[in-house]
Amino acid sequence: MDHLKTSRRLVLKIGSSLIVNCNGKINIKWLNAFCDDVATCCSREQEIIIVTSGAVAIGRNYLGLESKQLCLEEKQASAAIGQICLAHAYQEAMVSHSLNVAQLLITLEDTENRRLYLNVRNTIKTLLRFGTIPVINENDTVATQEIRFGDNDRLAAKIAQMICADILILFSDVDGLYSTNPQNDSSAKFIAEVTKLTPDIEAMAGNSSNTFSSGGMITKLQAARIALASGCHMAITSGKHLHPLKKMESGGRCTWFYSSEEPLSARKLWIASSIKPNGMLKIDEGAKQALIKDGSLLPIGVIAIVGDFKKGDAVIVIDNAENRIGIGLSAYSANDAKLIIGHKSSDFERMLGYRGSDEIIHRDDLVIEL
Ligand code: GLU
Repeated sequence: MDHLKTSRRLVLKIGSSLIVNCNGKINIKWLNAFCDDVATCCSREQEIIIVTSGAVAIGRNYLGLESKQLCLEEKQASAAIGQICLAHAYQEAMVSHSLNVAQLLITLEDTENRRLYLNVRNTIKTLLRFGTIPVINENDTVATQEIRFGDNDRLAAKIAQMICADILILFSDVDGLYSTNPQNDSSAKFIAEVTKLTPDIEAMAGNSSNTFSSGGMITKLQAARIALASGCHMAITSGKHLHPLKKMESGGRCTWFYSSEEPLSARKLWIASSIKPNGMLKIDEGAKQALIKDGSLLPIGVIAIVGDFKKGDAVIVIDNAENRIGIGLSAYSANDAKLIIGHKSSDFERMLGYRGSDEIIHRDDLVIEL
């Protein structure tokens, strides 16, 4: 576990069930022990970024809504109440370890829109330069159902990608990835190391969840996909005991997802980790081969358009057998794209009333995942 001690920049994601106990109160003892671990990292000159859940879990209890399924407005109100307690608890605990914290509340739009994304990145980098620990949560109070992450696993991965972190650790109530859900299958095998997110690995995710957390194993593997593409290693481990980081350093059980990838350029990374692509382009075998050879995607090779997207939106590219092969930014809206697929560029002007670009996704706007 030496890379834990030597890595320069770590993003630590804390699940609600660790920091909030079952009666909706902050688990101060746990938080103090965690801050102790963070202080050790800081003394080794490691930069730490914390992504923490817990606002909704605290707030719902305060409102007496602990046992019901919350509607959006109740979630937003719970988060507004809980977030202030959560931030205060982190500040108190960190200050007692002589560490400064700063709060960032982020929406999905802040990571999907490139200008906002760059703003967030600059703020985090500036805070780190001043030796402050960013404590981040989703801005649940303003997020609506359609435009929310809903889980902090993917938010944490986006943050790790944004600031080129070396390691992302998801501290959770599960100690790692199993071949099947260990809660219902005693023969479930623990997976200690993953180097590629194959369909077999993805099939292991099932849909495990617990009382407080929004993210099951599925969102954790989605987080892994984002982190690994960014050249960031990721670990899933249980944070249920005190000093969770120290425990990991001394060989505590966890699943490591090792990135072997050379990170893509910053812009391509942003494209690759889009959380909410707005559509899909199904392409034929010829187009697939062209993309593998680093070509652009031309409308003539597209068989079908799914979804309603605007020019410039992220769309997934799938092959004829519906396997995902990449993601890119569409040069056409869905409506215009529907008119020109299967046609040559010389026909576009007649069909659309304007010339448009020859490619539906230019190779500079495309990330192939094969
Ligand atoms: N952002 C939510 C909160 O603070 C939690 C999301 C999650 O559990 O991942 O309550």
